[in-house]
Amino acid sequence: MSRRSDRVDDLVAQALGGEATTSHRAVARLISLVEDESPVLREVMAALAPHTGHAHVVGITGAPGVGKSTSTNAIVAALRATGRTVGVLAVDPSSPFSGGALLGDRVRMGDHAGDDGVYIRSMAARGHLGGLSWSTPQAMRVLDAVGYDVVLVETVGVGQSEVEVAGLADTTVVMLAPGMGDGIQAAKAGILEVGDLYVVNKADRDGARRVASDLRAMLALADRRGDAWSPPVLQTTAQTGDGVAEVVAALDEHRAWSRESGELQRRRERRARAEIEAIAVAALRARWSGVGDHAQLGSLAAAVAAGESDPYTAADALLT
Ligand code: GDP
Repeated sequence: MSRRSDRVDDLVAQALGGEATTSHRAVARLISLVEDESPVLREVMAALAPHTGHAHVVGITGAPGVGKSTSTNAIVAALRATGRTVGVLAVDPSSPFSGGALLGDRVRMGDHAGDDGVYIRSMAARGHLGGLSWSTPQAMRVLDAVGYDVVLVETVGVGQSEVEVAGLADTTVVMLAPGMGDGIQAAKAGILEVGDLYVVNKADRDGARRVASDLRAMLALADRRGDAWSPPVLQTTAQTGDGVAEVVAALDEHRAWSRESGELQRRRERRARAEIEAIAVAALRARWSGVGDHAQLGSLAAAVAAGESDPYTAADALLT
């Protein structure tokens, strides 16, 4: 085994065991390494691996404006009230920008500024394998390893990749609100399949109960046969915190159920599989577009385009 560099060792040690402020700073640097696809990441991940697996990873998805960031704040407060520490990742899978969201994070910290038990970070997560983000699971891994009891992953946009990111969690929360054409949106983005818990926010507004009952009807029709867990549909007013304690209770219930039923293990393996695939495919792509032996993609493409070869034969040549 190769020796890890001192710099990585220091950073990991600070993130794992430092004083809160030092630790926050080290965690921020580790997540920046993820965003930058740093070459030292493999050392970082090797060092963190033995510390992972304790956090409850919760994904929150839903259309912009339903109240995800307001709810995240309220959920963080409710979790803090039970004594748990929380790491939050606000992920925008469609953003071309990386890092530099620090001002936004300071604003987002809101009520939790100065609370050592809370860490909030926005990140861009460009897709590496179809829509599947490679960096989000790595950042989740960092927050899990450094010891946050709960890791909340909030997706900022809406669409297939956001649903996929949320679906990588141990527990997935799908959020809706009245007056947003939710029914159609729900069916479109595939959220009827992915939620472990549905929250209709803005319960103070007309139509929230209707959204909740429509949703229950759609869930009953959705193809979720074989599901031993039937997802509850809750209502909240994130601004006042009404209903948020019930959301936390439902998160805990799902966590307990998934641990007992083996679903937690299955999800974690699915998440690990997605991570491995994404890293392997990225490595293969880098190799194929590289120089020397593996710069053959171009000549294979020319041969296939000219009808001198076929794509299957060419792919075999690439993989051997
Ligand atoms: P996000 O885009 O899903 O993160 O949504 P935000 O949390 O930014 O909320 C969008 C808007 O809805 C903001 O103006 C919030 O103040 C408002 N909002 C959030 N929760 C509630 C709620 O429970 N009731 C009402 N009436 N407005 C809310």
